[in-house]
Amino acid sequence: MIKVFDKVIDLDKPVGRFTVIDLICPKRAWFLFNEPIRELVKNTDELVVMGVETHSLVLSQLKEQGCNVEVPVEVEVECNGKRHVRRFRVDAVCNGQVVEIKRRYTKELAPMYIWQVKAYMALLGVSRGAIVSLSDGYVKVVEASDDELRAVKERLVENIRRALCGDAVRHVGSWCRYCRYRTECLNEKLM
Ligand code: SF4
Repeated sequence: MIKVFDKVIDLDKPVGRFTVIDLICPKRAWFLFNEPIRELVKNTDELVVMGVETHSLVLSQLKEQGCNVEVPVEVEVECNGKRHVRRFRVDAVCNGQVVEIKRRYTKELAPMYIWQVKAYMALLGVSRGAIVSLSDGYVKVVEASDDELRAVKERLVENIRRALCGDAVRHVGSWCRYCRYRTECLNEKLM
């Protein structure tokens, strides 16, 4: 059981789903249907295996407990006289608090995850959020002042504008080691 604010995520619940692909073999479908969600978490690098998404299993539990899940948020930017709208999805909002589900929270990945949650908090105008690490049950609570969230939102909007409008400067940090474009982007010195 993972407790996030006053909600509970139960990884011992069976997956309870399968896809048409799994039904090519009844035993395969049976195994998946009865497998605890924690097995999916343990055995996959991504939160997807055999067509069943651990992520959505967890979100449906939060939904049953009154959270809004997959909450859409929009950001509008303008460049070169054109209006651009980018749409994102927040995993869940529970009692006005952002909840993001991750397979594993680590010190190395923390800067990216915390940035993401703060960006959602800024867009939704809430001051508290949490990152749930499914593999070990850790919950990282994230809080930010109005001033910090204002700065996060400005940076987010500016980075979208730069990315979309041909002014994509590098923002180098510890996250670069997880970036799939790192060899193209960074020269050996920087790495
Ligand atoms: S490697 Fe380059 S593109 Fe990737 S995050 Fe770092 S600076 Fe940005």
